[in-house]
Amino acid sequence: MEYVEHVTDLVGNTPLVQLNTLSAELETPVLAKVEYLNPGGSVKDRIALRMIEAAEASGELRPGGTIVEPTSGNTGVGLAMVAQRKGYRCVFVCPDKVSEDKRNVLEAYGAEVVVCPTAVPPEHPDSYYSVSDRLAEQDGYWKPNQYDNQSNPESHYHSTGPEIWEQTQGRITHFVAGIGTGGTISGVGRYLKEVSGGQVRIVGADPEGSVYSGGKGRPYLVEGVGEDFWPNTYDREICDEIVSVTDANSFLMTRELARQEALLVGGSCGMAVAAALSVAERADPDDVVVVLLPDGGRGYLTKVFNDSWMASYGFLSPDHTGGSVGDVL
Ligand code: PMP
Repeated sequence: MEYVEHVTDLVGNTPLVQLNTLSAELETPVLAKVEYLNPGGSVKDRIALRMIEAAEASGELRPGGTIVEPTSGNTGVGLAMVAQRKGYRCVFVCPDKVSEDKRNVLEAYGAEVVVCPTAVPPEHPDSYYSVSDRLAEQDGYWKPNQYDNQSNPESHYHSTGPEIWEQTQGRITHFVAGIGTGGTISGVGRYLKEVSGGQVRIVGADPEGSVYSGGKGRPYLVEGVGEDFWPNTYDREICDEIVSVTDANSFLMTRELARQEALLVGGSCGMAVAAALSVAERADPDDVVVVLLPDGGRGYLTKVFNDSWMASYGFLSPDHTGGSVGDVL
């Protein structure tokens, strides 16, 4: 019989898929690392597994304990899956900009969800960071803190990075990913730089207004990426370049990924692909660009994939039903 003992045994080893239509005019191949094929539906399954196992090993997380974390959903799903297997309770704290669909998913896995306002600074007592800190002070609670926990970048250094290197047989020349906690780009980037002797160029994609691309944290709508502070999980030495992308371009590209590549993915994927295509335009034909797509699109059906929602922010004209980048740019 061929089976795994638990669904969490399937985390990682995601495929690379060529973007054919969107890069049709380009000579450089653009390959997407499709992370929604992880069992919890996102790249965050990887960090959940490593953070929990490291906390068990260090004694910070004890049997019967509660995991509390501020999360925009994906990290929560990963933690909830691993927690279920190991018998921990989960409480997640989300900003109110996170779609209701995503919160419902967390509750479906058996987690409790607390919702906090987005439009307050991180140090405000109602911010989702402050609320989760207060909860974490209780006895038996452990906060993974994906913004500070070095198991986050380490999981990518030990899994995502080596997978990409092997899958491209060492031919990758550019790696492009969005930056939220910075764990993905720092871990993958460090591995690829080490293994290639500094030959792989690491490009961060960032929402316009976020600190990584020189902004002050001005609100943007794309979820899971960009910050208004500098997390410890982001290694400032790794990125060779940061490309900032507007909400409009991120979301229009996300719709194109579904329509033209049959990849139903989240808004931060459109952002990363917009940056990756701009990198590929400037690259040589022998180069190989890999872009990481963090999650799937089902959690965004009422937003990015909804014409009225898009039009309400001016990303589409009200009579627009298709969604092509050229219509708005
Ligand atoms: N996209 C989405 C949808 C995410 O949830 C995250 C994680 N916050 C990212 C991108 C960014 O990944 P990282 O935290 O590793 O920088």
